Amino acid sequence: MTVLKVFNTLTRRKETFKPMRGKQVKMFVCGQTPYDDAHIGHAKTYVQFDIIVRWLKHLGYDVFYAQNITDVEDKIINRAKEKGVDPLGLAKHYAQRFLEDLEALGVKENIDVFPTTSDYIPQMIEQIKILIEKGYAYIVDGDVYYDVTKFHDYTKLSRMSIKELNKHRIEPDPRKRNSFDFALWKSQKPGELAWDSPWGKGRPGWHIEDTAMTVTIFGPQYDLHGGASELIFPHHTNEIAQAEAVTGKKPFVKYWLHTGVLNIKGAKMSKSLKNFVTIREMLNTHDTEVLRLYYASTHYRKRMDFGEEDFGKPKAELEYLYNTLRNVKHAASSEGDTVKEIEALLAETKKKFTAAMNNDFNTPLAFTSLYALARQTNRIVSQQKISQEQAESITQTFRELGGILGILGEEVLVEEELPKEVERLIQQREEARKKKDWKTADRLREEIRKLGYLLEDMPEGVRWRKTSG
Ligand SMILES: [Zn+2]
Repeated sequence: MTVLKVFNTLTRRKETFKPMRGKQVKMFVCGQTPYDDAHIGHAKTYVQFDIIVRWLKHLGYDVFYAQNITDVEDKIINRAKEKGVDPLGLAKHYAQRFLEDLEALGVKENIDVFPTTSDYIPQMIEQIKILIEKGYAYIVDGDVYYDVTKFHDYTKLSRMSIKELNKHRIEPDPRKRNSFDFALWKSQKPGELAWDSPWGKGRPGWHIEDTAMTVTIFGPQYDLHGGASELIFPHHTNEIAQAEAVTGKKPFVKYWLHTGVLNIKGAKMSKSLKNFVTIREMLNTHDTEVLRLYYASTHYRKRMDFGEEDFGKPKAELEYLYNTLRNVKHAASSEGDTVKEIEALLAETKKKFTAAMNNDFNTPLAFTSLYALARQTNRIVSQQKISQEQAESITQTFRELGGILGILGEEVLVEEELPKEVERLIQQREEARKKKDWKTADRLREEIRKLGYLLEDMPEGVRWRKTSG
């Protein structure tokens, strides 16, 4: 048996995964700033961390997963001002829609808590007070800044030089001691929402919420912190500086994992560049399982370049796997044998899948082993009947391993299992297709989908499956 190894951004090495307290894993992933709908670049990160969680649970770890919602932030305040609405109300509206998106992606069920910024203001003020007392932070006209030169390991996560740090400061502020010092507390500007603090009315800077939340929920140290690679600097860098200075405990987080970004036409998909496709838009035209397999087809640390045409491959692969399950169902018979070769294939696939996932969650390689099993299974069941028990065990293996990636959760049906009403609609659709009446065919397909059945147009004719939702 292989052991789980994960690539830790902090050490830039693959390390054997060993949580701080036995089988317990405490993990945190940076969540959304809800001022608009989330896009499929965000979904990449959340789906890939969801696969990581599913794998950890599969290995028997007891995972507690927190993901924050930033409801106090410049972008929300600006958007609310544009629309003339209350910023917290706007954030609440989009946070609700985001949770619906996470549910549709099959991600929400694995997240235990969604701590929200506006609920953690006292904890943030408490941490800022400690930072000032310990000499890490200073006050200027109601603002509080972190003096980066006071924290000696500041660049240990990003491995940046001081020169590079300087390059990253967009607005130099003469009141700051060093150009790259960052805000812990921002004094209130006219009309902005604010909370009372020892330094006057204001609101927290962005970075302090994560440490206030995790120290409250997990304690001073925890196992795994995730997010997109663009957060390494400054966000995660500043989190370490805050938490380790406040608690005096190192390391704040044992394993830092980062996902590669999703590009579109050479640029990072982002809300500010307005080059995004929302999760909602995507799920209107593609199944969740197709989208999940699309993300799983690339290693989580790698960048992806989005193109609508790239969905053809995962869609076809998924249909092939479902068709395999259908073929297995057809081949099952009380007179069928238990085929030795299949037993060996199932064992070998589980081994290969495990080795791939244990190697820093190599989902593309894990999927390859599942796909290879499908090919071999089809070869065998096209030639002979198999026992009911073996058919069950093949199906079980596909569902178990597919379930790690969040696919193969739907039921395949053979003809006898199809309700009469659906059968009738399918026949009507076939007739419409023969007459090349695509409009009617599409309408009927939609009607059938609403009844919970997905149609697949295979070379050998139409096939169907029952959706899980
Ligand atoms: Zn964060």
